[in-house]
Amino acid sequence: KEELNIIQGALELRTKTVEDVLTPLNDCFMLVSDAVLDFNTMSEIMQSGYTRIPVYENERSNIVDILFVKDLAFVDPDDCTPLKTITQFYKHPMHCVFNDTTLDAMLEEFKKGKSHLAIVQRVNNEGEGDPFYEVMGIVTLEDVIEEIIKSEILDE
Ligand code: ADP
Repeated sequence: KEELNIIQGALELRTKTVEDVLTPLNDCFMLVSDAVLDFNTMSEIMQSGYTRIPVYENERSNIVDILFVKDLAFVDPDDCTPLKTITQFYKHPMHCVFNDTTLDAMLEEFKKGKSHLAIVQRVNNEGEGDPFYEVMGIVTLEDVIEEIIKSEILDE
């Protein structure tokens, strides 16, 4: 029974898209780019429990960097280091995909190992003005694997 579920999950990777499994932007834990890594901010990061944290400038839809929690290993909260100092030092590449990317294509991308988190964007051509890219949310390897095994992976 379990195996059958997994096979079905694997077959559906070709029809489901990242849009079906993403974490919406509103639910993302993010940091603003001019944040200061003081005790408060660092506690919030630790309490969020996430490994990778998108960093935005001015508005949440404008993601400019990704902070990895392990980047903070040498940061002393008493130094009140600007977040920018850290993001500019590590410069983790950002990986963007379109909302209609199928999960099997996404899995292949993740297997290449660049990053196991991607930013999902779509072309917004509603309304009067010119079409523009709009960030919808984030997708990680875990979101794809959950689709295959068809159940939630509970976090540590
Ligand atoms: P982590 O290693 O941080 O636990 P995972 O890659 O295992 O992250 O993903 C677990 C779930 O959390 C996924 O559904 C993913 O979309 C979501 N997620 C990952 N990072 C964030 C974040 N910064 N804010 C909100 N949700 C996130």
